[in-house]
Amino acid sequence: MFNTSHYPHKSSKELRASLLLFQLLSYPLLIRLVLTLWKFVHFFRVPISPFIQLTGYYQFCAGKDVASCHVATSHMKVFNVKSVLDYANEHAKKESDFEQNLEIILKTIHEAANNDAYPFAVLKPSAIGSFLLYEKMSNGFAFNPIELASWERIKIRLEACTLAAAKSKIVLMIDAEESWIQPGVDTLILPLIKAYNKKRVVVAITIQLYLKGALDYFKQLTADTTIYFLGVKLVRGAYMEKERKRAQLLGIPSPVCDTKAQTDYQYRQALVLALEHIDRNLCIVATHNEDDINWMKHHVKKDVGIQHKNVWFSQLYGMRDYISFSLAAAGANVLKYVPFGPPRQSIPYLMRRAIENSSVKSQTKKELKMLKQALESRKTNA
Ligand SMILES: Cc1cc2nc3c(=O)[nH]c(=O)nc-3n(C[C@H](O)[C@H](O)[C@H](O)COP(=O)(O)OP(=O)(O)OC[C@H]3O[C@@H](n4cnc5c(N)ncnc54)[C@H](O)[C@@H]3O)c2cc1C
Repeated sequence: MFNTSHYPHKSSKELRASLLLFQLLSYPLLIRLVLTLWKFVHFFRVPISPFIQLTGYYQFCAGKDVASCHVATSHMKVFNVKSVLDYANEHAKKESDFEQNLEIILKTIHEAANNDAYPFAVLKPSAIGSFLLYEKMSNGFAFNPIELASWERIKIRLEACTLAAAKSKIVLMIDAEESWIQPGVDTLILPLIKAYNKKRVVVAITIQLYLKGALDYFKQLTADTTIYFLGVKLVRGAYMEKERKRAQLLGIPSPVCDTKAQTDYQYRQALVLALEHIDRNLCIVATHNEDDINWMKHHVKKDVGIQHKNVWFSQLYGMRDYISFSLAAAGANVLKYVPFGPPRQSIPYLMRRAIENSSVKSQTKKELKMLKQALESRKTNA
């Protein structure tokens, strides 16, 4: 159980603003209207600063750059909630974008070296390399010389981030994206894990338990004796609709489990497996699912102690704060995924969050209920 009034980092005014935003997010029609409006605003380069408050930017993003995130992340650290800075640039396409993203990711890693609010750094493979190249590699197609050169540059970027993470003594997490680029991504990441995770976890990967076969893959990685230390972030997966649509279009079976119950089963079994190897391997329980969090909390407490260095609970910035702050108050290691980036560029990220929230109605309802309870309890205690 979580303490429902546990929003110690927010003033009542901030709580009311969050409540209003989540109320708006509970209207899918309104979200669609805003998304259409955004396309217009983006196309005509309409300035967005006058109505930035309405976009949810400050609810889900901590700032426009690494430096401006300090206010939010240092405030959360007071309550023992740590952060990982997640650069919200979802649609990089050009080599110059990839280079620019690399610079910013390296900045987050260097920042982490000197600030214990940031024990992790994170990158999305598609932020530093072409989606199409990952896809081509996944399909086993040969590269032409230009593509080969681009592929080599992705390798160099990944190596630079890994080396920086090793020197900064932090963990570099690699996010998981669409399943059809993952085999290509793995060809680059697995050798880095084998090379760098010899004394501790430097590179951690993400496993999406909504994928059929993901549990077997996790078992296989755990049993792989060429991997010294394994670090995994366990998620259900964020691209279900897209995965299913693509499979339908191509006339292939969907890679995603057929039911939520199957995904839930795989997720729970992954937690069981992670716990069995927790003395050696790192596990980041990245979910908002209270049943799983409670289950893990209970077993970690019983088996190895809630503060065990290899168990982290992680939620997204601006979401499920009562869970994160209650866990931290109970002594668990907690990590908020903290997106940042210039407002205009972060809108695609915010859109994804808005769509996710409006389509997962139970999540928004729960968020609303908890915010209302927190405000009520403050009134009663005032
Ligand atoms: C800290 C953090 C980091 C994350 N990083 C990533 C990442 O790198 N890559 C990524 O893909 N996602 C990532 N996510 C998002 C995550 O995958 C989920 O989309 C999100 O957390 C909701 O799932 P849940 O476990 O919190 O909650 P729940 O509400 O219990 O589960 C919802 C999820 O269940 C699955 N699901 C829902 N309906 C069905 C169905 N009918 N059949 C099969 N499965 C179904 C979907 O994955 C859906 O998102 C991250 C989430 C967090 C909190």
